[in-house]
This record gives sequence, structure tokens and C-alpha cells, in this order.
Amino acid sequence: MAERVLTFAEALQTVLAQARVVPAPGEYESVPLQDATGRVLAAAVRAERDQPPFDRATRDGFALRAADVGEELKVLGSVRAGEAWPGSVLEPGEAVEIMTGAPMPAGADAVVMVEHTALANGLLKVEAGRTLHAGENVVPRGAEARKGDSLLPVGRVLGAAEIAVAASCGCAQLPVFARPKLAIVATGDELVELGSADLSAAQIYNSNSHALAALARAEGGFAGRLPIARDNRHDLRERIAQGSMWDLLVLSGGVSMGRFDLVEEVLAEFGAEFFFTGALIQPGKPIVFGRLPKQGSQPGEWTYFFGLPGNPVSTQVCFHLFVAPLLRALAGRTEIAPVFVEARLAESVKGGAKVTRFLPAELTSAWDSVTVRVVGWQGSGDVTANACGNCYCVLPAGVEAFAKGETVRVLMR
Ligand code: AMP
Ligand code: MG
Repeated sequence: MAERVLTFAEALQTVLAQARVVPAPGEYESVPLQDATGRVLAAAVRAERDQPPFDRATRDGFALRAADVGEELKVLGSVRAGEAWPGSVLEPGEAVEIMTGAPMPAGADAVVMVEHTALANGLLKVEAGRTLHAGENVVPRGAEARKGDSLLPVGRVLGAAEIAVAASCGCAQLPVFARPKLAIVATGDELVELGSADLSAAQIYNSNSHALAALARAEGGFAGRLPIARDNRHDLRERIAQGSMWDLLVLSGGVSMGRFDLVEEVLAEFGAEFFFTGALIQPGKPIVFGRLPKQGSQPGEWTYFFGLPGNPVSTQVCFHLFVAPLLRALAGRTEIAPVFVEARLAESVKGGAKVTRFLPAELTSAWDSVTVRVVGWQGSGDVTANACGNCYCVLPAGVEAFAKGETVRVLMR
């Protein structure tokens, strides 16, 4: 089989290009607003009326005509949030006490803050020397949105800010896309499922399936853990056949150069198309990415797959870099790229690698500085060191050394 090993940038571009052409989920459901967090909007939320729906006072004070500042004004009464001023149009020389969030009385064009006024015997005086312009402390009707405007587009992932918009439009339910289905297959003769009674000294627990399920759920996917595949063609064929009925198949292990690393070979038997068979990254170099004809579906429908290296830190880094963007696209999201930020190195780090490195690291943000410190580790099998960090420090290929205080990129997780 022809190898296709890409640089990190090329591999990411390849995944993002595929992500752009995956179809949005065909199914959606309606969920109560409180269950919508993390889901992806399947139909735009539109303003059901102008927002604000009336000229809204933004300060506690007095509604008046800005041109009247400087004169003594007659206070006619008071209007609070939730009420409408029952009186007629404000005439020159008149004012109405008003609370934040209340509709402006007709005829008034500004609000003077209560702390800038003095009131005696029903007569209002604005502090000497203070000026007020028309529109001050008022948000006009429709300034935030007009009735019918799209406020949240299809494909937006729903967080608190989006839920506030939906609630402000009176939406108690929201249409969201069905979760994409991700099949997880751990491969390896040495693996034992949790709960097994005895574990020999040479065996290890299958942690990757659980990590991948947690990562997939955090990205809005539905994760199914298939039974462990042993390092033989029979098991791999069975699991890949099963996994190719899902939207995305993620395998861990069995993609390196070992004699029992058979994942690519068996994927090829299923007619897999490989977009790449390796990336110049560390950890994660043997990663493979491609697609298979989707079982039980129309021709032209695909199951995307990733074969991730089995070392747990490689598995997780590759998920953040490559699997997550594709999964987000399959979930119908429009914002899919991994998030990188910049920070200053807290300590110097050796460079000189020929690949882009993603080292477990701890990002510390204080008010005036954001620093990142690479955590000590025993290599890409070190799940514990990985859990001591909260991000990955990105070290580009070919740079000899990274000095303390230098700005580097950080992959957020
Ligand atoms: P492989 O990519 O299959 O060569 O595996 C690389 C390393 O990762 C080996 O030390 C494996 O024991 C370990 N490994 C593979 N799969 C898992 C898994 N599901 N959970 C934990 N460790 C694993
Ligand atoms: Mg293996």
C-alpha cells in the first residue's frame, strides 16, 4: 500500500477539507432549552419581534427632552420596568421618573441619571454644567434586532450566550441536529477490559476506549465502545464491518510498523480510501485517516475512519487535532477547527525535532500574563503526566531550542 505521510499543516488541511464536504446530519429533534447545551442548532433562531420591543431606558433617572436640560422640569409621575407610561406625550418642561428597563414615555428622548439630579417640591433640576444629548441612556426599539432577523444561524453550537438569545425570543424548545455516531475499537492482544477479575503482569487495561468516548461525548457525539479487537485479521474484519455502519470509526493501536499492526491492511480489504497514512507529528506519527463505503446505506455514503496510534497520549492528541474537527462537522457545526492560543514559555525547552511536537503542558493564566510549562513525562504512554497538564505546547519542527519567555502556540483541550 502506498504510504502518504503529510506535515502537520497538510494533515490538518486535509481533515478540514473533508470536513467541509461532509453532509449535515439528516435528522434533527426538538429539545427543551435546558437540554440544548452543547447541541448544534438545526434551524435559525429568528427575532419574533423588534429587540428591544420598545425604546428602553438603560439607567434609573428621569425621562425628559434633552433640550430641556438647564430648566426646572415638572415631574409628572413615575414608570417602572414592565409598565407603560399611561400619560400622554411629554411636553417641553416635563419629566417622568423612570427605572432601568422601562419603556420611554412618548415625547421624551433621553434619560438623565438620578445621581445627576436634584428633586424638590416635584421640580427637577439637572446638575449645573451637565449636558445631555438626544438618545442618551436609551436603546431605541429595534436597535439590537428587527423582527424576523436571524439571530443564531444553523450550525451554531449552543452555549449560555446562545441559550440567552433563544430564551429572549421566547423559544422553550430548540431544533437540534441528531448526534453523530462514533464507533470506538481498541486493538491489542495486551488489553483487558475494566472489571476483569485477573490481570497478568504483561496485560494492561484498555483506557483508550474510555478516553475516546469521553472526548467524543464532549464534542456532542454519541460514542459506542465495540469489544476489543485482538491483533488478528479475523477480529479486525469483524469490528471494521460493524464500525462501518456508523458515521465515524475510530480505532486505537495497530497502525505502527510492528508485525501485528494489521489495521491498515484490513481497512484496505474493505475498499478504504486513505487520505493520509501518517503525519509528521509527535506524538501521533502513524495516524491514518480515510473513508469506507458505509454499510447498509446508499452508494456514495461514507464512514470516515481514523486509525490512531495506541499510546494513550498519542490517541488523545490525535483526537484533539484531527478527530474532533471531523466529528464537529458530522454534528453539523460550522466552527470546527482546533483552538490554538499563544503563551510565554515558563521554562526553556529543547528543540531540534524533525516533526511538530505537542507536549502535555500546563497553561497558567494570571491577569497580566499567560504562561505555559511543559510537564515532565515518560513519553506518549504516560497517561498520568498527560492528566497533570491542561493543554499541549506546540513546538514547530526544525527549531533548535525554545527559550524561557518565548511566545509559543498552545493547543487547548
Ligand atoms: P500500538 O499503537 O498498538 O503499537 O500500541 C502502542 C502502545 O499503546 C502499547 O504500549 C500499547 O500497549 C498501548 N495501548 C494500545 N492500545 C491501548 C489502549 N486501548 N489502552 C491503553 N493503552 C494502549
Ligand atoms: Mg498494538
